[in-house]
Amino acid sequence: MSVLDIHVLGDPILREVTTPVVTVDDELRRLIDDMFETMYVANGVGLAAPQVGRRERLAVLDVGGGPIAVINPEIVAASGRQRAEEGCLSIPEIFGDVERAMHVTVRALDAQGEPFELEGSELLARCLQHEIDHLHGKLFLDYLSVLKRRSAMSQWDRLKKEFPGNRRVLTAQEIAEHVTKPDEEL
Ligand code: ZN
Repeated sequence: MSVLDIHVLGDPILREVTTPVVTVDDELRRLIDDMFETMYVANGVGLAAPQVGRRERLAVLDVGGGPIAVINPEIVAASGRQRAEEGCLSIPEIFGDVERAMHVTVRALDAQGEPFELEGSELLARCLQHEIDHLHGKLFLDYLSVLKRRSAMSQWDRLKKEFPGNRRVLTAQEIAEHVTKPDEEL
């Protein structure tokens, strides 16, 4: 398994719509393994393919209940509302309150290419919505009010120089310290 570079805000791939996966094969499973490894090293609870520079409609997540890969995920039911602070591995150190559905049902393919349905509430529901947004070029910043977004963007203007070429390269130290405790960056 390898740890991949994370593409950060400013990279146009984060605004592209991904392409549905046609064949679930060993190559895709290798990408899934690498995405899990990258997500755990970065202390994230979710990671979508565009965040590692890929166009497959694919995301991985683990909010503490074990690893879940979703291929071609679609939200087929949503209900209730929740509001909580959200972050993103592609927009490090920036957080904002986002309103999301409290419960979602997602239909997807698993890593064997088999269809399955997943129901999630609270953090799992939030994470699924955040990752599925990534697969359609949408970021949590898009939900902030104009003022909050402006303040997030001016914070980002100061931070972004730490990421030349819009890449967040996980350091050997981060990899060595690799802790699997999830935090709030999705
Ligand atoms: Zn994200």
